[in-house]
Amino acid sequence: MTQSPRLLIAGNWKMHGTNAFASDLAGSLAHKMSDAGNNGVEILLCPPALLLGAVRVSIGDSGISLGGQDCHAAEQGAHTGDTSAAMLHDAGCAYVIIGHSERRADHDEDDATVNAKATAAQTSGLVPIICIGETLEEREAGRAVEVVTGQLRGSIPEGSSAASMVVAYEPVWAIGTGRTPTLDDISQVHDAIRAALKSVSRDFKSVRILYGGSVKPENASEILAVANVNGALVGGASLKTDDFWAVAEAAT
Ligand code: PEP
Repeated sequence: MTQSPRLLIAGNWKMHGTNAFASDLAGSLAHKMSDAGNNGVEILLCPPALLLGAVRVSIGDSGISLGGQDCHAAEQGAHTGDTSAAMLHDAGCAYVIIGHSERRADHDEDDATVNAKATAAQTSGLVPIICIGETLEEREAGRAVEVVTGQLRGSIPEGSSAASMVVAYEPVWAIGTGRTPTLDDISQVHDAIRAALKSVSRDFKSVRILYGGSVKPENASEILAVANVNGALVGGASLKTDDFWAVAEAAT
């Protein structure tokens, strides 16, 4: 019998916060972890790179994981303003978000770039959270599954194992908008992602597939109950202790 993968609830703070905010939010979550435990759910915080140090201190040995929001594909070099995967690892990260739709749009990142960055992340001992998702136009044209599975095939590093990557399905039109797909639509896409993963490798039956896009306390339980949804990538709701904790609790 296949064991279900451990659920992952990841907070993407995007470009929000200060050192004081980061210490406060991460510290409150760490307290909640020591009071209540996490019931087997993995909790991950992905603050801006400059706040990783403050978050690392505040989470201490609470069991909360730390992640970056992006990394460069190169190991090091003349890339002003960029952060390497090795630097994130050195800062205490276990994960890095790669190919978020905001980076695909703002920085013209295509599947080949995402693949190269995810490969760099794995080489440095990080688990890339590879983001894929269709635009509203693509969904309305009935192309959601085709687009998402195409991005998946182009973005997964060769030689990956189930433990060395996480996939996040994030419909672009649902991010930060308060709109979410129906549960049937989420189910259809997650099943298609699982099938596409299994067609690459049998081992990929236990790759974690997160859903992201306007996840909040009110909808988390029903979304996390959908088959092949193995956690959530949470933006706006991860900036408030009670909201993020409620989403994490919905996973237990
Ligand atoms: C995200 O940033 O990946 C995200 C899903 O944002 P939100 O939860 O705010 O839609």
